[in-house]
Amino acid sequence: MSNNNPPSTPIPIPMEDPIIHTDQRPFCAFDPFADCPCHEDPILIDHVTGQVTDGLLTPSEATRVVSGRQCC
Ligand SMILES: [Zn+2]
Repeated sequence: MSNNNPPSTPIPIPMEDPIIHTDQRPFCAFDPFADCPCHEDPILIDHVTGQVTDGLLTPSEATRVVSGRQCC
């Protein structure tokens, strides 16, 4: 087992889902455990919770919205 690593080359990572927050998608599509604070914003989460209370979203849909995987 040799420890002969090739020269490190930068790996381009395409940003298919740029960080974006809109009225339709207040939560970006980033991983909810990423650093973006939108997934923990109490105002935004309260808004989604209200939509569940109003019957506009199911709890599982709300989870997807907060995860940025679904528009509200
Ligand atoms: Zn975000």
